Amino acid sequence: MISRQKSEKLFETAKTLFPGGVNSPVRAFRSVGGTPLFIKRGDGCHIWDEDDNCFVDFCCSWGPLILGHNHPAIRQKVEETLKNGTSFGAPTKLENELGELIVSRNPYIDKIRFVSSGTEAVMSGIRLARGFTGRNKIVKFDGCYHGHADSLLVKAGSGLVTLGTSSSAGVPEAFSNETIVLPLNDCGALEACIAKYPNEIACIIIEPIPANNGLLIQDKGYLQFLREICTKNGILLFFDEVISGFRVAFSGAAELFDVRPDIVSYGKIIGGGLPVGAYGASDEIMSHISPLGNVYQAGTLSGNPVAMTAGVAQLTECLKPNFYKDLSEKTKSFVETIMDHVHVNEYPFSIACVGSIFWFSFGEKIEIRRADEIDPHTMATFGKFYNMLLDEGIYLGPSGYEVGFVSAAHDEKTLKICADKICSVLDRVFNEK
Ligand code: PMP
Repeated sequence: MISRQKSEKLFETAKTLFPGGVNSPVRAFRSVGGTPLFIKRGDGCHIWDEDDNCFVDFCCSWGPLILGHNHPAIRQKVEETLKNGTSFGAPTKLENELGELIVSRNPYIDKIRFVSSGTEAVMSGIRLARGFTGRNKIVKFDGCYHGHADSLLVKAGSGLVTLGTSSSAGVPEAFSNETIVLPLNDCGALEACIAKYPNEIACIIIEPIPANNGLLIQDKGYLQFLREICTKNGILLFFDEVISGFRVAFSGAAELFDVRPDIVSYGKIIGGGLPVGAYGASDEIMSHISPLGNVYQAGTLSGNPVAMTAGVAQLTECLKPNFYKDLSEKTKSFVETIMDHVHVNEYPFSIACVGSIFWFSFGEKIEIRRADEIDPHTMATFGKFYNMLLDEGIYLGPSGYEVGFVSAAHDEKTLKICADKICSVLDRVFNEK
C-alpha cells in the first residue's frame, strides 16, 4: 500500500477549511474510498503526491492537459507573460491571438467569447440561446453534464416527457421547470417532447461525446437527427464541447462527426491548464451578446493574459501535423493491449474509447450509450480496481463514472507498462476472493 501519511494530514486540515475538505466534490475520493492524494507536482505524464509517490496520470486535470504536465512551451510563454503583470481588465493582444487561432480554423463559429470556466461558458451560451430565440425551455440529456449553472442541475422528471426536477438543493422549481431531460439515443422521446412544447424550446444541449457519466458514445446518425430536428423546429443545437473540443479533433466532435452545431462551448484545453472557457456561434447569433446586443454577459478575468498565452502555446502544439492521429493511435494500442487480455480471460470488463478519451467499465454490457445502462453495482468493483492501480503507480479520476485521458506526453513505452499493470490488476480483481 502506498503511504498517504502527508496527504492524510493535509486532508484533516483541509476539512477544517473547506466543505468535505475539497474545493470540488469529486476530488473527495468518496466513490473509491480512502483519502484524496494531495498533488505536489507534475511533469510530462507523471504526477507526484506530497508523500512522494509517483503516478502515471490519466486524469490530466480532467482533460485540459493534452500535452501533459509542465510542458516547456506553455511554461516559457506563461513566464514571459507574467513578467508584464497578471491582469488588466482591458483588452490585450493575446486575446486576439487565441481568438484568431481558434476562429480561423473552426468552420462552426464566426465569433467567440472567452470566459473563465466551462460552467460559465455553458451558462452564457444557454442565456444566448434563450435571448436569440425568445424561448425559455431547454432540452438536455440524462448522462450529460454541463457544469453547475442552475438550469442544468436538473434530472429527468417521472414521465418520459415531463419537466425536470432539480438535482441540487437550492435550485428553484421554477428554474428546473424550464429544463426537459431526455434519454440519450432515443429519437422518439425527442419527437414527443417537441410535439408537446412547440415553439417553446430555445435549444437542445448535448455533449456530442458524453464523457461525464461513463463514455456514452453516440451514433453519428443520432447527432444528424438532432441537427435536422433542430433546424426544422427553429431550435438551436448546442454542442457542449468542454471535454471533446480540441481533444478528439481541433474543432472537436463537430469536426469528428461532421455535424454543425449552432452554439458551441469550449473549456479545459484552450487554457493550457489555466482557467478558461469559451462559447461561440455564427455572427448572427453572437451579435446578440453585449455590448452589441441585449444578452448580458461579462467577466473581470475573462480573456486573462496568462491564461490566453498558455492557450496559444498549447493549441499551437495541437496544430502540428498528425497530433490527433498520433494521440488516437497510441490510445487505441493501449486499449487493445488491455482488451486482448480481457477477451482471452472472458472478464466482464470493457473499454469505451474515442480519440484519446477512454472509459473502463465493469459488467457484461459492452456498448453503453445511455446513462441508465450503467450498472451502479459495478462501482464497488471499480473502487477495488482503482486502489490497486494507485498501488501500481497509476492515477485515474477517482470515480468509476469518470473517463481517462491520454496526453501527448504519454509515450508508448509507458503506456505499454501501464497496460500490462492494468491487466495484472484485472487478474487480481477477478480472481482474488
Ligand atoms: N461541460 C462539460 C461537458 C464538462 O465536462 C464540464 C466539466 N467537467 C463542464 C461543462 C463544466 O466545466 P467547469 O468544471 O470548468 O466549470
